[in-house]
Amino acid sequence: MDLANTSLRQLASALHERRISSRELTQAYLERIGRLDGQLGAFITVDPDKTLSQADAADARIARGEAGPLTGIPIAHKDIFCTEGWLTTCGSRMLSNFVSPYDAHVIEKFAAAGALILGKTNMDEFAMGSSNETSHFGPVKNPWNLAKVPGGSSGGSAAAVAARLAPAATATDTGGSIRQPAALCGVSGIKPTYGLVSRYGMIAYASSLDQGGVIAPSAEDLGLVLNTMVGFDTRDSTSIDRPAEDYTAALGQPLKGLRIGLPREYFSGGVSPDVARAIDAALEVYDRLGAERVEVSLPHSQLSVPVYYVLAPAEASSNLSRYDGVRYGHRAAQYGDLNDMYERTRAEGFGAEVKRRILTGTYVLSRGYYDAYYLQAQRVRRLIVNDFREAFARCDVIMGPASPTVAFGFGEKTSDPVQMYLSDIFTISVNLAGLPGLSIPAGFGASGLPVGLQLIGNYFSEGRLLQAAHGYQQATDWHRQVPDMARA
Ligand code: GLN
Repeated sequence: MDLANTSLRQLASALHERRISSRELTQAYLERIGRLDGQLGAFITVDPDKTLSQADAADARIARGEAGPLTGIPIAHKDIFCTEGWLTTCGSRMLSNFVSPYDAHVIEKFAAAGALILGKTNMDEFAMGSSNETSHFGPVKNPWNLAKVPGGSSGGSAAAVAARLAPAATATDTGGSIRQPAALCGVSGIKPTYGLVSRYGMIAYASSLDQGGVIAPSAEDLGLVLNTMVGFDTRDSTSIDRPAEDYTAALGQPLKGLRIGLPREYFSGGVSPDVARAIDAALEVYDRLGAERVEVSLPHSQLSVPVYYVLAPAEASSNLSRYDGVRYGHRAAQYGDLNDMYERTRAEGFGAEVKRRILTGTYVLSRGYYDAYYLQAQRVRRLIVNDFREAFARCDVIMGPASPTVAFGFGEKTSDPVQMYLSDIFTISVNLAGLPGLSIPAGFGASGLPVGLQLIGNYFSEGRLLQAAHGYQQATDWHRQVPDMARA
């Protein structure tokens, strides 16, 4: 089977019709990982024995006629999702020895659906980063050009899917970590509405922003995986109890009359010319499909990066206080008293970017600064939410670039954190508002590197977003293009 050109739906039918067994399919992916991942570094852990025993169980289930759409499909998981009996590192030295004693809700749901764990993917440490350069396990390379970053923090998931080392991979998005790496690696990725995917067992970075989602080649594949991932969970206090929805139901419906909101602020500079050209061409495709353009404004969007870099570090400084060397994870080998143990453990266990966030977060929450920074940022967050509310009164979907540039080189932005933070200028406001957003491949820019088109929807409009993305993918074939190494 040509894994570089087979969609998830095609894999599922091949399994159901017993044209291939889950064991054979899984072996083929494991073989690709073994052969190609040395160049990419997309996986932190693969455990072929465990995965193949899950494949055998899936084959038995298919034989009994009890298979669902994902039964027997191997799925890679970002190493932020706790997986029972598997190393779960969150890209950090702090958790480099942590074998999770339980499964995240998302992992339980995949297991119930009969999907297998193909491996755990590399990521920026504690999901803090836009280039996958902060991982304790080393950077991930972009499959389109090994000298370029894959984006972050879900760079391992995006690179694995782009090189077709996995048919789909889970990921998380706190400020752009699904959409930006999907854009830079030329694959599709969706961050659902905040609260749709349970955060139970998803290692916390900034709890009011973190949301699980998926990266796969096409919008149709995203819908199939989302159908399994979404669901109410009492163990996450912000989980939303809604009736189940089939996210593939609207695929194929025409886009005539779809009102596309184009935020003035997304089209007035700040985007590199190659990305701007690709986005314009994508919008022309939507014109031909009968969509209408509406100009909208998100006047506070330029404040989203500063607001995020107050709120996310504040929440991170609280969430990461649990890594104290006492209960699990890394503990310094040598120390004096208890405080010294905490200090050495945290000094050794966390990398520089994580420490920067903890320091910033502690500062903005401290007495005397709380009102000036944290509270003020919360107020501006509300203004950002209101901007979107007004925009969605006039349009159905907002479109623009997912990233201001194509993939950049290693080391290009590491010495200037603010430059790195600006990589998420178009994605962060969506998290601040809790809205769903996705990125789909929309051609190529400088040096033949992929460009991502971002689609932002109103709350719970995932089905419509996927319909809009699918319509574009029916009219174009960017999502079917693979880097040379994927054909190897
Ligand atoms: N790049 C942003 C950050 O470093 C977003 C990361 C994310 O979405 N997890 O925080």
